Amino acid sequence: MDLGLAGRRALVCASSKGLGKACAVQLGLEGVELTLVARTASPLEATAEEIRQESGVAVRTVAVDITTAEGRDAALHACPEPDILITNAGGPPPGDFRDWDRNDWIAALDANMLTPIELIKATVDGMIARKFGRIVNITSSAVKAPIDILGLSNGARAGLTGFVAGLARKTVAHNVTINNLLPGPFETERLHNTLTALATKTGTSFEEAYETRRRGNPAQRFGDPVEFGQACAFLCGAQSGFITGQNLLLDGGAFPGTF
Ligand code: NAP
Repeated sequence: MDLGLAGRRALVCASSKGLGKACAVQLGLEGVELTLVARTASPLEATAEEIRQESGVAVRTVAVDITTAEGRDAALHACPEPDILITNAGGPPPGDFRDWDRNDWIAALDANMLTPIELIKATVDGMIARKFGRIVNITSSAVKAPIDILGLSNGARAGLTGFVAGLARKTVAHNVTINNLLPGPFETERLHNTLTALATKTGTSFEEAYETRRRGNPAQRFGDPVEFGQACAFLCGAQSGFITGQNLLLDGGAFPGTF
């Protein structure tokens, strides 16, 4: 299926690794010009080069922290008029809410709610004027079913989801859609770090923690980031203009609800 995206421009945040990278790779394969953002320059440049070699598309890199105003300015300077915006940033740390103070909450809100909203604000009117826009926010399965140790994530991402639900109904008449992708357990560096921390905390090995988690998923496996990137590319496709305000859960069936 040709997604009709060749020649479009995408700003893909937090994309040197993991799910953000997977989205960038798939958009590159569709012929989309890319601007990639991450804090650490060398893996970011390595990912950019990998995509250039694989897809032949133009790839810019901006090594900044997207959760800062300066970082967002630099990213938007490099890609002022994206047709596609993928918002993403690192997730907040786990813990007990009794240990979090106001600064912890502000940091989580900045990263996982206010940064996507600022980026949408800076780009959505241009998309509306050009009559094409696709915004995809990488959130979490925690929006649908809270994860007890990730209270900061549960709260901040729910805030973004609520805001987007309203705006997505305003922009769709102009062929600008806004949707959220909700990852369950995908095999990325973050997942490995989370399992390592869990193993240390519970006194088991990494392998045991990995196997228990894998077997606990109805699919009997973790998600492959490629699958995530492909879902993202589909939502960005020219044919997806009637899909907006949706929360697409990719979790191998782990959420047990009928809807
Ligand atoms: P990952 O493998 O750790 O990759 C994170 C990427 O984001 C890296 O490229 C990292 O590069 C970049 N990044 C992090 N913070 C950034 C910042 N402030 N500014 C710019 N770039 C930043 O993580 P992932 O598994 O792909 O997760 C992506 C998002 O999905 C996270 O919010 C995570 O909480 C959420 N999520 C993941 C899963 C999962 O199973 N993987 C499940 C649910 C939710 P630098 O470190 O160099 O900046």
